[in-house]
Amino acid sequence: MDCRKVTFKLYPDAREAERLTAWVQLHCELYNAALQERIGAYRKDGKSISYYDQQNVLPEIKAARPEFVELGSHALQQTLRRLDLAFQAFFRRVKAGQTPGFPRFKSSKRFSGFCYPDPAGWKLHQQGQRGGTLRLGSGKEAMAIRMRGQHRFGAEAKPNDLTIIRKNGAWFASVTLRVPETACARARTDHQHRGVDFGLTDWATFDNGETIANPRWTRNELPRLADLQRQRAKKKKGSVRYKRLSQRVTRLYERIGNLRREFLHQVTTRLVTTCAVIATEELQTKNMSRSAKGTLEKPGRMVRQKAGLNREILSAGLGMAHQMLAYKAVEAGTRLHRSNTRQLKPSQRCSGCWEIVPKTLAQRVHVCPHCGHTMQRDQNSALVVLIDAHTPGTGVAARPKPLARQRAKSKSVTRETPATTTQEV
Ligand SMILES: [Zn+2]
Repeated sequence: MDCRKVTFKLYPDAREAERLTAWVQLHCELYNAALQERIGAYRKDGKSISYYDQQNVLPEIKAARPEFVELGSHALQQTLRRLDLAFQAFFRRVKAGQTPGFPRFKSSKRFSGFCYPDPAGWKLHQQGQRGGTLRLGSGKEAMAIRMRGQHRFGAEAKPNDLTIIRKNGAWFASVTLRVPETACARARTDHQHRGVDFGLTDWATFDNGETIANPRWTRNELPRLADLQRQRAKKKKGSVRYKRLSQRVTRLYERIGNLRREFLHQVTTRLVTTCAVIATEELQTKNMSRSAKGTLEKPGRMVRQKAGLNREILSAGLGMAHQMLAYKAVEAGTRLHRSNTRQLKPSQRCSGCWEIVPKTLAQRVHVCPHCGHTMQRDQNSALVVLIDAHTPGTGVAARPKPLARQRAKSKSVTRETPATTTQEV
């Protein structure tokens, strides 16, 4: 059994949306009241209240405030648990000598939603080709909310838990499904062996010279973003117009994120379903996108340029792409090889003779002084990681001198696997 999380957009009608909003408000009220209780008890007589103390009071609350009943006891418990987690995280960080913020009261506008921790109190129906309904609550009072999208796991998938999320005025249902491994499997249509070099100039370059252009979502939208923010700066903070413009800024950010996610899903799916072997470098976006700011005593250089570059690196979504590749490769039975960047140095190594050929980032063409091999820079590194994937016991340290012989062997392997080989790995 595997777990898969699927998020659907909900389309509640006006009455349903009103009710969902009221439910979020009640959950928020419970959260704040429980927080107040913990603070009060500690101030009054230094007593700390546990999650279970608070859970045991829920029946009383429901008796006094019947509007809480239809929310479902497990969902209410989950909100209390959420507060408990906030406290646990707070105390853990205090213990570790950090200075965390104390758990905060939340305004119901900012309260993101609520969660059903088990399959009780809700039901997912998939109907027709591309939609369905989500049943919330029980009996006559239950809501049947229209939703868009279907998951691909079929009837074998068993729903496990549900989170209702409100984001920028839209509603979403995020469902965790327990799926048998067979239902997760993806059919492979081709069995290529491909080395990939991810980057910014081209989003991806393959060992055979093919490329995928970088869509540069953020950079393309920057002028519009700046324009909106400029307009907003002229408005009075807190005014209706200010809020309206803020909303447009958030929507634009959301749109950029959606576009990026869609692109990454499509590309990674296409990769794993057409390749038997995918070779790439280990990725360290965290190190790559480190700020150049430096410290007060030792200020960094080219801070703004680096910030722009960081924005591009993060916008390319390489981290997300690697995560998607990892789990989709398992689903498709594709071997994903990740070379150790520091040992292999794919961008500096010659794919022809395996010698290190140092070059700066600005040098876009690899010209080898040892063997005369000339190739586009990124294509060369893609080829290097592919060769690395074909010679097991990877890592350059693992194979010191007899490189010439190894190289000859690995090179032939690469050549024997043209685009449409049927070899299974
Ligand atoms: Zn060479």
